[in-house]
Amino acid sequence: MKNCNQCGKCCIRYSDGGLSATRDEINFWNEFRPEIARYVHDEKIWMDPVTGDQLSVCPWLTQLPDQKKYICGIYDDRPDDCRHYPVTIKEMILDECEMLEPKDLARPKYAQKRLNIIMADSRPAYE
Ligand code: SF4
Ligand code: SF4
Repeated sequence: MKNCNQCGKCCIRYSDGGLSATRDEINFWNEFRPEIARYVHDEKIWMDPVTGDQLSVCPWLTQLPDQKKYICGIYDDRPDDCRHYPVTIKEMILDECEMLEPKDLARPKYAQKRLNIIMADSRPAYE
């Protein structure tokens, strides 16, 4: 299992309607980060502030110049839905997450344990 290389695939795959924020997260943004709250509509993220329509890509995702890496513009205040990714080896395979190595595919249960350790600061362990 490699560390995240910021390939951006997960953000690109899920940010067009596949992510959600909790009521507490939305309340926090309303009070302290109104620029983020602008992209919430009917408790859904990430929505066009003018039309209220779902955006195709998260507004906070930026590709670094001359690199294949992406960064999150609200990293410290991103929703738990983003913070918790990746949760399972199965979803990583589907998403072609670049943390995966061939040995992880050969031993998925062990890979899940390794992933839980890597993600220990961000989410509870997934069994
Ligand atoms: S908020 Fe950040 S982590 Fe979440 S989809 Fe957008 S760029 Fe990715
Ligand atoms: S798909 Fe995997 S390697 Fe790529 S940014 Fe997301 S977590 Fe990192």
